[in-house]
Amino acid sequence: MSGWTVPFFSPRLFEEERARILELIHEVGTAPEQRFLLGAHTRALEDALSRELSGAHVVACGSGTGALVMALSALGVGRGDEVVVPALGCAPLAAAPVALGAVPVFADVDPVTLTMDPEDAERRVTGRTRAVVPAHLFSTMADMPRLRALTDRHRLRLLEDSAVAQGAVLDGVPAGLWGDVGLYSFVQVKTFGMPGEGGVVVTRDPELAARVRLSRNHGQAEGERFRHRAVGHNSRFDEVQARVQLARLPDLAARLARRAQLVDRYDASLAPLAGRGVLAPPSGRDGRFGYVYTVLADDREGLARALREDGVDSHVYYPRALPRHAAFRPFAPEGARWPRAESAADRMLSLPLHPDLTDAQLARVVDAVRRFAERPATAVPAPSRDPESTHR
Ligand SMILES: *Cc1c(COP(=O)(O)O)cnc(C)c1O
Repeated sequence: MSGWTVPFFSPRLFEEERARILELIHEVGTAPEQRFLLGAHTRALEDALSRELSGAHVVACGSGTGALVMALSALGVGRGDEVVVPALGCAPLAAAPVALGAVPVFADVDPVTLTMDPEDAERRVTGRTRAVVPAHLFSTMADMPRLRALTDRHRLRLLEDSAVAQGAVLDGVPAGLWGDVGLYSFVQVKTFGMPGEGGVVVTRDPELAARVRLSRNHGQAEGERFRHRAVGHNSRFDEVQARVQLARLPDLAARLARRAQLVDRYDASLAPLAGRGVLAPPSGRDGRFGYVYTVLADDREGLARALREDGVDSHVYYPRALPRHAAFRPFAPEGARWPRAESAADRMLSLPLHPDLTDAQLARVVDAVRRFAERPATAVPAPSRDPESTHR
């Protein structure tokens, strides 16, 4: 047991499903086909997800990262191409272009949504830019209408990294279907996380779907072993996981609805703290989802300490901007700055959010944040600096 009154992750992950999962492992493991990758269960999962996306193509892959790399490759991104990615977010956003010999070009983020700023992205477009890859972050979708307009204007491809935003809708369009191609990740912590690795590519474009389908199994078409039509990857979906996801799919809507309800409550309680050093994400349901709830705190360490003293766990995701990592420094032009991504990296703090969080636990988190923000004014310490950081 974690010892937290309010743990960050659900302490009962897969608890209720455990017996069923063991049954399904046995079922797949003893089935006469002895097929453990890309079989009938994977196809059934793809079809079920496709039906929820009004018939869009769904291609199951070995991970969200695999989905991202293969989607980028299917868009034609290759050696020497530039790909505009956000300066804040997870490593695969920058690593995927590099894996294909392309160059990640970092765009700064919006100071409130923390997602790619379309204006800054447009300033980074050159004659070598081939694709723009915004990512939905925490609980907020990127500004897809303006990013779509940008890519249309410059005749670029749009890859929507919707890895964490399954089920979100912006202006009536599901997350994943705003770009030429999108994706969802099913890694444990994501909203449809499973006990293992996996993800899907989603697209309305049949040719892109066909390219990813070929790519995920070493360039072999289905039913065509040892005939390699293209240089591909090993990014295949596991049959046991597919069977488990199919069994859990009917509950997904209720789990997402509970997450959305918790987000609404956080929004309503924390938005009024805006002038008091704790900034909540933009409120409302349009373009929102309940993956991770992240506030911007002027005194992050102080807030984390206050929460800890009250038994509430909190996490810092992405404590530095992507171009400030050693791995991606070669792609950060000398002297370049991403002021809003860097400032957010110093202030972001994520609060517990999962379907098993009770109303009482949420109230406890909210009370602790409020008490901290409304404490009598004292000298607020300067935000602590990451000692490894060399960018100041
Ligand atoms: C989790 C994540 C990925 C990668 O997914 P994996 O399944 O962990 O490989 C890609 N992009 C974003 C934005 C993510 O959050």
